[in-house]
Amino acid sequence: MRLSRYFLPVLKETPAEAQIASHRLMLRAGMIKQQQAGIYSWLPMGFKVLRRIEQIVHEEQARAGHLAIQMPTLQSADLWRESGRYDGYGEEMLRITDRQGRDMLYSPTAEEMVTDIFRAHVSSYKQLPLTLYQIQWKFRDEIRPRFGVMRGREFLMKDGYNFDLSKEDALHAYNRHLVSYLRTYERMGLQAIPMRADSGPIGGDYTHEFLVLAETGESEVFYDSEITDLTFGDREIDYDDVAQCQSVLEEFTSRYARTDETHDEAAFNEVPEERRRVARGIEVGQIFYFGTQYSEALGASVQTPDGSKVPVHMGSHGIGVSRLVGALIEANHDEKGIIWPEGVTPFHVGIVNLKQGDVSCDSACEAIYRAFLDHGLDPLYDDREERAGAKFATMDLIGLPWRITVGPRGIAANKVELTCRRTGESEEMPAEEAVEKIV
Ligand code: ATP
Ligand code: MG
Ligand code: MG
Ligand code: MG
Repeated sequence: MRLSRYFLPVLKETPAEAQIASHRLMLRAGMIKQQQAGIYSWLPMGFKVLRRIEQIVHEEQARAGHLAIQMPTLQSADLWRESGRYDGYGEEMLRITDRQGRDMLYSPTAEEMVTDIFRAHVSSYKQLPLTLYQIQWKFRDEIRPRFGVMRGREFLMKDGYNFDLSKEDALHAYNRHLVSYLRTYERMGLQAIPMRADSGPIGGDYTHEFLVLAETGESEVFYDSEITDLTFGDREIDYDDVAQCQSVLEEFTSRYARTDETHDEAAFNEVPEERRRVARGIEVGQIFYFGTQYSEALGASVQTPDGSKVPVHMGSHGIGVSRLVGALIEANHDEKGIIWPEGVTPFHVGIVNLKQGDVSCDSACEAIYRAFLDHGLDPLYDDREERAGAKFATMDLIGLPWRITVGPRGIAANKVELTCRRTGESEEMPAEEAVEKIV
């Protein structure tokens, strides 16, 4: 992409309404525009990052054997009356009436609808296990939308639902989700720690939230510092292997790690004092096993091998796709701007032409630009007639991992400058070598 043809409405002033770095930087870098409280338009660069996150989520869900579907945002209130949640959900639910006077709602989550799909088409244990998921906009009329996309009212969520014959099978699905989420966040360059969460009135241990440590996080978290040394890495996983998924779960959840909702001071005190940490975190996902609550209410049952009919065991699993954009920036920025991890960066590299219109600079930049395209990478070429300082400031703000700077003095010596955004280190080298280092 050539910056002269792109739509990157960078703000010079720091927006007064933004209280935290990610919100400020997303506005300043022209990634989003607020339309109403908690409701945003995604501009080209923001949308690109959102799409990259979605892509990683889709790839990891496919790897785990989960199937993508798409359900409507607008749902019938009757479906929610069947589950008994229509009246109980409260003011977070946006309720709408159509011209026939029918009650509808903008889906805040989709257990009811996915169960409706299941009951219409599945009637035998032979069709199990089944996990369906979607990435779709949700609406929750949050009382205090804030921090930009972090707590929006309209937000993008991956929500997945497993259907299994037994509790045991459903717990394997739970473990499979935990493993796939660990991989998903790590590919984005994020450490998200699974923490025991509050399972509400249903009880049991079968819910974990994934938290990214950040001072601006809304949850207070308590954990054993050993947990931050764990990485998933690129180990091979067989998602059908029950024991293997279980052992990953044990590895990542055996140490103390809880949010304020489930914090237990006595248990925490058993962690050696030098390893006890109290910090703040951003919830970027949650997994849940809830049994037969919805399948019973909505009549989703299957025939078992012995011919009897049983309600299916279910769980639901969410990733905050749009919140992740904010969380990624909270975890990756400095005073100059964003520092994108390679896994989600909107462009792989920025090319800065210090003397636009100079024949040798222009042709060197064009050649570098082409070389990246030929390698299947996505470069952003700043080909505007702008001062060097302004070009550098823009690149630092939008935070691409690498910058190649091309100027007349360097070109005369057959050199360009390669700069790493994260370390700030620069090195001079021939253009071909700089390209080689990035591809
Ligand atoms: P929170 O505790 O932050 O209100 P939640 O527990 O209500 O979140 P879930 O129902 O678990 O949310 O939804 C799955 C994921 O969707 C959350 O882990 C979070 O990452 C994301 N999410 C929830 N509410 C919002 C929101 N208002 N704006 C952006 N993302 C959200
Ligand atoms: Mg909530
Ligand atoms: Mg929560
Ligand atoms: Mg949650």
